[in-house]
Amino acid sequence: MLTPQQQEKLREVLLAEKQRLLKTAKEGLSFSMNRDRGAIGRDSIDESMEEELFSTELRLRDRESGLLGKINSALERLDAGTIDQCEDCDEEIGFRRLVARPVTTLCIGCKEEREQEERAEAAGGRGGEGLGDIGGGPGGGDEPAVVPED
Ligand SMILES: [Zn+2]
Repeated sequence: MLTPQQQEKLREVLLAEKQRLLKTAKEGLSFSMNRDRGAIGRDSIDESMEEELFSTELRLRDRESGLLGKINSALERLDAGTIDQCEDCDEEIGFRRLVARPVTTLCIGCKEEREQEERAEAAGGRGGEGLGDIGGGPGGGDEPAVVPED
C-alpha cells in the first residue's frame, strides 16, 4: 500500500502530466485553425508538405488523447486505492516505478513479459500472403466436349 504522501506525490505527477497534455492539445488546435485560414492561394508543393505536417499532428493528437484517457483512469485508480496493484498478477507496483510511469497498470515483471510477447509476435506474424496466387487461369477449357450426335 502507498502512504498518503506517496499518493499525493502521484496525484501531483498525474495532474502535471494532464496539464501538459491539455496545453499541447490546445496548441495543436490553433495550428489547425491557422492552417485553414491560410490555405487559399498556396502553391501545391507547399500544400503537400502541409498535408504531411497536418497528418503528423493528427497522429500526435490521437496518441495524446489516448494518454489522457490513461491518466484519467490512473487518477481513478489512485482514488480507489488500486493504483499500485498490478493488473496481471496483483502484486504491488513499486512506488518509484509509479512515479516514473504513473499510468502503468503492470508491475515491472509483467511489463517485461508482455514486451517480450509483443516482440515475438511482431517477428513471427509476417509472410505467407500472396503465394497462393501463382498460375492457374480460369477454367480448364480443353476438356473434350461430349456432344451426342443425333
Ligand atoms: Zn505483475
